Amino acid sequence: MSRAIEKARQKIKEADAVFITAGAGMGVDSGLPDFRGDEGFWKAYPVIESLGHSFVDMANPKWFDTNPKLAWAFYGHRLNLYRETVPHEGFELLKALVEAKSNYFIFTSNVDGQFQKAGFSEEKIYECHGSIHHMQCTCCPVAIYSANEVEIEIDMTVFEAQNIPLCPQCEEVARPNILMFGDWEWDATRSNAQSVRLDAFKEEVQEKKQKLVIIEIGAGTHIPTVRYESEYTAAELNAFVVRINPRDYEIDERIGVGITLGGLAGLRAVL
Ligand SMILES: [Zn+2]
Repeated sequence: MSRAIEKARQKIKEADAVFITAGAGMGVDSGLPDFRGDEGFWKAYPVIESLGHSFVDMANPKWFDTNPKLAWAFYGHRLNLYRETVPHEGFELLKALVEAKSNYFIFTSNVDGQFQKAGFSEEKIYECHGSIHHMQCTCCPVAIYSANEVEIEIDMTVFEAQNIPLCPQCEEVARPNILMFGDWEWDATRSNAQSVRLDAFKEEVQEKKQKLVIIEIGAGTHIPTVRYESEYTAAELNAFVVRINPRDYEIDERIGVGITLGGLAGLRAVL
């Protein structure tokens, strides 16, 4: 592994631009659950286990219609948790790195807003699954709005929200602007605008012939969106991937190296 770390350091040093791609493993060292498998999810939410719901079952927009108290217990608890969470030192290491380079962008499947909280520019982040810090309506096309004013109190013994946020336009139940499973109502406007900025970043890298390194942190194989983005971009822009992952670290050696460590330890090793 020391050879992989050496190679990663060298590629990061040589790069003009950095593309950070992050999955759930990025939050683990800040103390966030990664919902790995049903057991990981139920460990974080024992009451949901007793209700018999899996993560996929819970992360479904149907609950906002059929049981908004349950839906908002789940999302309200996560909103409170992510608000309280302090991003770990790995975010600082990445910030120092991108400040020393001419260009960067972040691609994340995390809805927790931790990159913004760590001080990265909102303009430099693509949240492919949306953000818990933004709201939309379950029924009308009200423009996406900030969740800053939303405060949810939860009775954890029965796992029920004590209050339900309502849409400011139609007063029906509001929901987080997060892409859920089987979600045909997700408002992708904000995410699409971020995606346009990501495309502009890639074009700039290409036009200015910048040497690009991709640092991928904690992106699993179960929902491989982030891994695909790393690999696709590596092929598209002839970039090198540093894949930091304690379990799913395999990568074609022609495009990158795997660092068999958790997020923070991996970032400390390569930066
Ligand atoms: Zn509405």
